[in-house]
Amino acid sequence: CGIVGYVGRQHAAPLLVEGLSRLEYRGYDSAGVAVLTSGKPRAVRTVGRVRDLEAAMPKRLAGTVGIGHTRWATHGPATEANAHPHASEDGRVLVVHNGILDNAAALRERLAADGVTLASDTDTEVLAHLVSRSDATSLEDKVIDALRQVTGTYAIAVLDADHPDRVVVARNGSPLVLGLGEREMFIASDVAALVRHTSQVVHLEDGELATVTASGFHTFTADAASVAKTPETLELSA
Ligand code: GLU
Repeated sequence: CGIVGYVGRQHAAPLLVEGLSRLEYRGYDSAGVAVLTSGKPRAVRTVGRVRDLEAAMPKRLAGTVGIGHTRWATHGPATEANAHPHASEDGRVLVVHNGILDNAAALRERLAADGVTLASDTDTEVLAHLVSRSDATSLEDKVIDALRQVTGTYAIAVLDADHPDRVVVARNGSPLVLGLGEREMFIASDVAALVRHTSQVVHLEDGELATVTASGFHTFTADAASVAKTPETLELSA
């Protein structure tokens, strides 16, 4: 339902929670965040409100890179296990997703046959396993590899402990926007989560991916061709 992300110089966790609270008006049944803390991914997920998530978070969840999600369940009930972010088996790859993957059942069967233990009922979880199991080296190529295997709609944000300086995002049929800051970047499914922080935004189009780091972003397509993007200035209504 809602996606937020942050890469920068401030602690990500409070910014992610604040961004999620600005997406609450869209409705959701559960929420979660993941932050890289000293290189280790730490995820917190709860059924219920963003303020319940905030209450469940450890007081010191340090780290300047993170992703967050409010879920509107389509595959599997609203439980903590089904809340995003979803993780690979080793916990090093984390994914948040808006939308519906049409071939998730077949992919879940194939992963299970390969010996993967699935931890949720969701369509989304397959993406974390597919990214993690890709033979590619860069996170960008791993995500492209994973997305080649899925059909359906998505906006995703992917965190990987092996590539701790970035979040990779992709869009196909669900909105995704980048907010440009000073040595920091914001990610959201809706500008409502960004307006407090920046008026410079870049909208992704269907079929586009982006690498987001503290120093900026790079947009590209699934055949790894760069896409030039001119930031838009948001008109702030009084
Ligand atoms: N299909 C995913 C799920 O059921 C994402 C739903 C959403 O967009 O929040 O977990």
